[in-house]
Amino acid sequence: MSDVRFLPIDPDRLAAMRSAGGDEFGNPWTPFDAEGREPLRCCLRGSGAGERIALITYSPWTAPSPWMEAGPVFVHADACAGYATTGRYPPAFLDGRRMINPFDHHGVRAYDHITFVGPGEDHEAAVRAVLAQPSVAFAHVRSASAGCLMFEARPVGSP
Ligand SMILES: [Zn+2]
Repeated sequence: MSDVRFLPIDPDRLAAMRSAGGDEFGNPWTPFDAEGREPLRCCLRGSGAGERIALITYSPWTAPSPWMEAGPVFVHADACAGYATTGRYPPAFLDGRRMINPFDHHGVRAYDHITFVGPGEDHEAAVRAVLAQPSVAFAHVRSASAGCLMFEARPVGSP
């Protein structure tokens, strides 16, 4: 059993956005056909060409924080299966350059442990090494090229 959870967008928050017809920042829900290259943050896989998706603004923070960041992410336009295997690093996102952006137990960015990984490197080991730091509470894994959030990584047992 994994001691790390790899978390997509909260499905409850996403369902609320879909039924409200817009994201949490006032952007209308605007479905369109995927080109087949979009990383989906609802189920942590790449899109298939022609799938109905939407581009929304999303912030992984759920309480006010000066460290809060929001950015554009692709999600399925309609409800999907989500990401069930949260103990496993999303296999579809093992390529590419990633920034592991860690935060401490007070929610402050843990600058000393910001880590970049590239293609061919062991992404999962890098995430685990960052989360193993006693000062690190959780991390956001981002695209190092586009800057957007891919998913959250949290130790099992953390909120
Ligand atoms: Zn999805």
